[in-house]
Amino acid sequence: MPSHLLNSLGEDFDAWLAERGYPRYRAPQIRRWLLQSRCAGFDEMSDLPQKLRAELSDSFSIWSADVMAHHQSRDGTEKLVLQVADGGTIECVLLRDGARRTICISSQVGCAMGCVFCASGIAGVDRSLSRGEILEQILRLQRLLPTEERLSHIVVMGMGEPLANLPHLLWALEWARASDGLAISARRITISTVGLPDAIRRLAEQPHPYELAISLHAATDELRNQLVRVNQQTGLTAILQAADDYYQASRRRLTFEYVLLAGINDQPIHAQTLARRLVHRNALLNVIPFNRVADLPYQTPTDEAVDRFCQIVAQAGINVQVRRRKGDDIHAACGQLRRLVQQAGPQQLTPALLESPS
Ligand code: SAH
Repeated sequence: MPSHLLNSLGEDFDAWLAERGYPRYRAPQIRRWLLQSRCAGFDEMSDLPQKLRAELSDSFSIWSADVMAHHQSRDGTEKLVLQVADGGTIECVLLRDGARRTICISSQVGCAMGCVFCASGIAGVDRSLSRGEILEQILRLQRLLPTEERLSHIVVMGMGEPLANLPHLLWALEWARASDGLAISARRITISTVGLPDAIRRLAEQPHPYELAISLHAATDELRNQLVRVNQQTGLTAILQAADDYYQASRRRLTFEYVLLAGINDQPIHAQTLARRLVHRNALLNVIPFNRVADLPYQTPTDEAVDRFCQIVAQAGINVQVRRRKGDDIHAACGQLRRLVQQAGPQQLTPALLESPS
C-alpha cells in the first residue's frame, strides 16, 4: 500500500531519496512540483528520471482522500467534500472575493467542542486529521484556481477544533507559509478556535505568528456553558487571559467571533455585557448571523436585531463587522454540505436538494 506523500514531505522524504542514492536537489524539486506547480501525478513531473517517477509511484500516493462532491456556487465559492481513507468525510471551501482567493480548511473529522448550534459537532469527533490530510485540502483547493491566480488567504474555520490538532496543523501551515512552499504570509493565515487556553499559549510560541480568531458567542460563563459545552472546563476569564497573552507575544490584532442566535444571545443586554468584556482590547468583533442547520432549533436573527446588536457594541468603542455569507446556495457553511451528503448519499445530491432552504 503506497503511503501518503503529503504526510512525509520534509526530512523523511529527503532521507527516502538519499537511501536510494538520489542527489539532494531532487527533494526540493519534487516539493516544487507539488506545492507550487499544482502537480497531481508523478507522471507530470517531467524533469525527473523515469526510474525515480516509477519508484515514487510504487511507494507513494500524492492524494489520500476521494472527492465525494464538488460544488460551485453562483457567487464563485467552490466547496469540496472529501472522504478520508478510513471513510469519514470533511469539507473545505474556496472563496472568491475581489482579488482575494481565500480557502477554508478542516482540522478534524467531526468536532468534540460541543457548540450546540454547529453542524460539525452534532455527531461528536471521529478523529484528528493527519498532517498530509490538512495539506491535501490546501493543494486540492489551489488546483481549482487558474494557473495565473494564487491563493491569498487561509482560514482554519472548517470542521473541527484546530487547537485540538495543533502539531499536525502547524506542520501543514508551515508548508503554506514557507517561501519554498505556497509562500502565503502568516498574516494572511487565520486560525479560529473555540478557545483552549493552554494551546493558545503554545501557539503564541510560534516564530511566525498566525492571526487568531476566538469564537466567543457569549460574554458570561452562564450562557457560554450552555452554548459551547467545552466552556464548562475552560471558562471565559482564562480564555481572555490567553488571548491577551497571544496579543502580547504576536502584536496581532485579535478577532473575536460571535454567532448571533435569535432570542438567545442577541439581546441588548448581551451586547452590553460583551462590550464591557472586550473594551480596552485591540480587537475586531466578527458578528456572524446564525446559518440555519436542519434539525437544530435555533433561528437567524432579523437584520434589525443584527444592526441593533452591532450598534450597541460599536457605540461602546468596539470595532465590529458582520460577516457576509458566501456560498449559501451550496451550503458552504460549517458542516452543512457534509451532513446533506451523509444523509442523502452523494448520488442523490441534486441541485434541487442543494437549493432547498436548510
Ligand atoms: N472550532 C473552531 C472552528 C469552527 S468553525 C472554532 O470554534 O472557532 C468557524 C466559526 O463558525 C466558529 O466561530 C463557529 O462557531 C461558527 N459556526 C459554527 N456553526 C455555525 C452556524 N450554524 N452558523 C454560523 N456560524 C457557525
